[in-house]
Amino acid sequence: PSVSGLLRFLSLIRRNIMTMRQVKQIYSAPNPHWVGNGFSMSTVFSYKENAEQYSPFLLMDYAEPTLFKPVTNARGVGTHPHRGFETVTIAYQGEVSHHDSTGHAGTIAEGDVQWMTAASGILHKEYHSEKMTKEGGMLEVVQLWVNLPSAYKMVQPRYQALKAQDIPHVQLPNAQGYVRVIAGDYANTSGIAMTYSPLNLWDVCLNHAGTSHYAIPEGHNAMVFVVKGAIHLNNSDIVRQHEIAILDTHGDTLTLGSMGDAIVLILTGEPINEPVVGQGPFVMNTQQELLQAFDDYDNGKFGMMD
Ligand code: MN
Repeated sequence: PSVSGLLRFLSLIRRNIMTMRQVKQIYSAPNPHWVGNGFSMSTVFSYKENAEQYSPFLLMDYAEPTLFKPVTNARGVGTHPHRGFETVTIAYQGEVSHHDSTGHAGTIAEGDVQWMTAASGILHKEYHSEKMTKEGGMLEVVQLWVNLPSAYKMVQPRYQALKAQDIPHVQLPNAQGYVRVIAGDYANTSGIAMTYSPLNLWDVCLNHAGTSHYAIPEGHNAMVFVVKGAIHLNNSDIVRQHEIAILDTHGDTLTLGSMGDAIVLILTGEPINEPVVGQGPFVMNTQQELLQAFDDYDNGKFGMMD
């Protein structure tokens, strides 16, 4: 065989072994807005702009580090409903408490994750913990809305309190840091969250310069949000603090280069190829189901809050 034929053959093999997930777009989290009086949130992405690109994720809110002074009454968001999806709250700094109409209540502190399946419907309140209210302090959180396939939109609500110490850690080579596997799989380690569709949620904590690799399932939508620091993707694109990179849907490998301290949230998921019809706290598949949600809420069918 000719030399050029051999090279073509080798590049074909290489492509079959590993294909880089290219970066499609990088942008900054927009300016924050107040959610209730407790959360200064920036909506990093929303299904309102492009449901297909982010599916199964619907929305990502990020509350950048904000210092709260001690007060008497807990700041937060008052009673409100949800139906048709899950809310996933990650506490990076500070403490958030919650209680809902199914009787679940809890507080998440640094590193903890709350995975709440609203599904057929809940009422809940989200607010600063009693300790944070009394003592004040920094608050930094991410809240994701994860869509449910139509078959699960009306199942019973579920509540998963994922404690930091129970979330599996995978150490990265050369003491660069570790990956917290919140959901899905990383390097043969399974996350602890139960999900209704295939997705990965990796919280990457880096404390040293280095390079790490991530297998991204073919066909999954994928996003990389830089909570802290700055990183390189695929040895080329720089993603800075509070920027998000939207990746191409093809390719199976992402390379992340860090220059030092960084926290990076990687989201990947199999798209749910169904219509998304949402308004306010409800996300359904049809206009009829959305109207039904408002109707059920007006008629007190979302339960009671004490
Ligand atoms: Mn809520």
